[in-house]
Amino acid sequence: MNQNNQQLDAVVIGAGQAGLAAGYHLARTKLRFEILEGSPRVGDLWRRRWDSLRLFTPAQHDGLPGLPFPAARNTFPGKEDFAAYLESYVKTYTLPVRTGVRVERVTRAGAGFAVDTPSGTVRARNVIVATGANALPRLPDAAAGLDSAIHQLHGSQYRSPADVPAGDVLVVGAGTSGAEIALELSKSHRVLLSGRPTPHIPDPVLRYAGGAYWGFIHSVLTLRTPVGRKVAARFHDRGAPLIRISTKDLERAGVVRVPRLTGTVDGQPTFDGGTSDGSYDGGTPARLRTVIWATGYRPDLDWIDGLQLAPSGWPETQRGAVPGIPGLHFVGMPFQYALTSGLIGGVDRDAAYVVTQIAKRTPDPSVVAPVLQPGDGDGEDRGGSEAQHTGGSHPGPERGDGGHA
Ligand SMILES: Cc1cc2nc3c(=O)[nH]c(=O)nc-3n(C[C@H](O)[C@H](O)[C@H](O)COP(=O)(O)OP(=O)(O)OC[C@H]3O[C@@H](n4cnc5c(N)ncnc54)[C@H](O)[C@@H]3O)c2cc1C
Repeated sequence: MNQNNQQLDAVVIGAGQAGLAAGYHLARTKLRFEILEGSPRVGDLWRRRWDSLRLFTPAQHDGLPGLPFPAARNTFPGKEDFAAYLESYVKTYTLPVRTGVRVERVTRAGAGFAVDTPSGTVRARNVIVATGANALPRLPDAAAGLDSAIHQLHGSQYRSPADVPAGDVLVVGAGTSGAEIALELSKSHRVLLSGRPTPHIPDPVLRYAGGAYWGFIHSVLTLRTPVGRKVAARFHDRGAPLIRISTKDLERAGVVRVPRLTGTVDGQPTFDGGTSDGSYDGGTPARLRTVIWATGYRPDLDWIDGLQLAPSGWPETQRGAVPGIPGLHFVGMPFQYALTSGLIGGVDRDAAYVVTQIAKRTPDPSVVAPVLQPGDGDGEDRGGSEAQHTGGSHPGPERGDGGHA
């Protein structure tokens, strides 16, 4: 393992939208930093999502700081387009990303941190965790009680209707992902959708009052306002509002709506207010062939030594700073500061705030070379030109509005 006593000012873990936005702001300080990404290529997480996925946020809210998303307003980019955008973002700002480097452990070491990777330990005075909210599938207990003849998969494993066996499909979870998967599958399968759909934002509202809506969720629904705090308190249990798809669209497509799943009896699902034998829609549960769990995700943060986690799986933070572990910060947490914190168009403000806090507590930036140089024997594919250090001065394009309200 490559050990070295020299340390960086900051290490960012994860090169999704949150890590890259943090990188953008770090690059505008004198701090020495690098971004470690576990996947072979920036954007791989998006590439792995289902084939037909399009963003539910319009292009004007899909840009990161300084670089608006290159598409017309009110269009919805595909997942491959967004993955490509993330890669282009790294290139545009020559951000020091090293791909194929998965962080396995973070421990406190002196006044800073030791960040362990398979290819060595990086030492840093500050760490920004930007590993996302979607690390692990969240499955209800009912998953373990289902008959073994029923094919089960989590929404993160769904790719296309062709991979789903013939027969009835139950999609559990009526948030955006569940509704989109149900709609797509309804062309080839009989589909039941369980759960209470999140409120739908009608297309005209987005088209003609989208700016006002964004302003509300970005600037009013924050931890600074009573209404924002109220929404934040229940945020982990509720999905994002339905955009593009309404419950009427689902009904028109023949998707059968069933109540919330309550558990299983004899290997078959039961529903809130349903019959005791678990039957649905007057049909027989024996026809059920597949269950797709669109029940969300939870973070995976066990590898950070000494971090206390709340029942949500996240630590309590002060706008991203972990009290009790000076120098440890998060970017990209759901409702870190506002409802938009976990969205592409909302992450900029949190990243800027966290980097400002780090710059304040690191008044004497390091003047040493980065600890692990690109090509320093990590033996993994780093996605070519991304793996470069630019030494803290990043003369990219000047910051534009990035499409943010
Ligand atoms: C299906 C789906 C659709 C969505 N659509 C939209 C949308 O349309 N608009 C919108 O605004 N938001 C959308 N979101 C919400 C949000 O924007 C995404 O979840 C987004 O991926 C979050 O970005 P992030 O940078 O916080 O985390 P991620 O995108 O999850 O990135 C985290 C990165 O960290 C890396 N990583 C993780 N662990 C380690 C480790 N130990 N070491 C090194 N690297 C590590 C991962 O490989 C990954 O690249 C969607 C979410 C989902 C699940």
